[in-house]
Amino acid sequence: MKFSSLGRRLVMATLLFCLLFTLAMVSLRTWIAWESNLADMNSELVLIDQVFQNTLSHAIWEMDRESLNKQLASVASAAPVGRVVLNIPRPGQSAEVIELKKYADASSDKAPVLHRQLVAQPYAGAHEIVGELTIEGDANLLRERLWGEARGIVITQVIQSLLLAGLIMTMFNRLVTVHVVHIARHLGELAPQSLGNHLRLHRSVRRQDELGLLEFQVNELQDNLHAHLERQRSDELAIASSRDHLAELVEARTAQLKAANQSLEALSRHDALTGLANRRYFDELKDVEFRRAMRHKTPLAVLMCDVDFFKFYNDTYGHMQGDECLKQVAETLRGVFGRSGELAARVGGEEFVVVLPNINAEQACNAAQRLCASLAARELPHSGSTVSPFVTLSIGVAELDPQTMDHFDQLLQRADQALYRAKSQGRNRVAL
Ligand code: GH3
Ligand code: MG
Ligand code: MG
Repeated sequence: MKFSSLGRRLVMATLLFCLLFTLAMVSLRTWIAWESNLADMNSELVLIDQVFQNTLSHAIWEMDRESLNKQLASVASAAPVGRVVLNIPRPGQSAEVIELKKYADASSDKAPVLHRQLVAQPYAGAHEIVGELTIEGDANLLRERLWGEARGIVITQVIQSLLLAGLIMTMFNRLVTVHVVHIARHLGELAPQSLGNHLRLHRSVRRQDELGLLEFQVNELQDNLHAHLERQRSDELAIASSRDHLAELVEARTAQLKAANQSLEALSRHDALTGLANRRYFDELKDVEFRRAMRHKTPLAVLMCDVDFFKFYNDTYGHMQGDECLKQVAETLRGVFGRSGELAARVGGEEFVVVLPNINAEQACNAAQRLCASLAARELPHSGSTVSPFVTLSIGVAELDPQTMDHFDQLLQRADQALYRAKSQGRNRVAL
């Protein structure tokens, strides 16, 4: 949008008003001047009339033509006189008319006109009308005087209007425009960080006027905005810190949950009494090992172990001691089958299974023998056993036969059958 100064519009309005006012004033003052000029000229004509009245009357009475003409010429040449007409009545004849005028067309209805009857006094107490004098004012002189005055009026009015407009412009600029521009610039430069910088109008005297009110309100608005932004910032900080705190809490809880999950998983995969893999875990792993052996065509052996006469052990030493004995057996299993890939699991009350990848039946039998020897070396007393004074195991060994087997349980069944044989052949032995 085009920028137009308020000051300039004010000046234009002032000038227009002054022009109209000047026109009205010029008309009024010219009319007054006209009236006063008319009155002045009238009194001048009266004065001339008074001066020449008696001498003119005398000259007519005396029929002194020369003197009459001279005096009429004097009247006609006086400055305010435009035309002189002398009417001398003659008895029995038409009246004589003498007319003198300054200009050829000097007849105007605007100029003042004076009619006077000339009276002669031949002797005391006698009055004789000897003529009629008409003196007409000089209309041109009247116009000239009027024009001179009107010119003066117009010039003073115009100068006055221009001075007034200039004064208004200057005052408006000093009092309003400068400050409005300053306020606009201040608002334009305002930013969230600079809200603390208050608006200061450069005025010599602090005034309680509209500008002062505007300044106060702008600063008030800035303060309110500043306070609002500060509040918002502190709220955001509080939210951020509680968010961080929440994140830390979540992290801590997640770690706890993870640990709990791990221990739960460990618990769910291991037997609580012996710490060996439990039946569930064994069921998971047996198929993995079976498929691996089938895929890589590697040997896979299984040992099925059962504690001999364990019912008697419980009966003799009590259930608690029975548990302790099972722990010892598990410990022995862990000691013998500690290599990676080897898996010992407790699959029943006093029954254990060992899965041995990459091992054939013969090597598995040797391992089973080592297990028996290791358990025997612990010399866990078992007075209820008829085959040994110590706790012993019967072990069935089976090897994967890829031709006939397509499931791990078939291998397990084979090992179970071997165990049955070991039991029936007298216990405390390994059977293939
Ligand atoms: P065999 O030589 O023929 O194997 O005879 P056994 O007595 O060992 O076999 P049986 O199956 O007759 O008895 C197993 C016993 O194991 C019965 C049960 O009381 C005991 N048992 C099973 N689980 C546990 C256990 O967790 N703790 C204890 N202390 N005893 C258990
Ligand atoms: Mg058993
Ligand atoms: Mg048994």
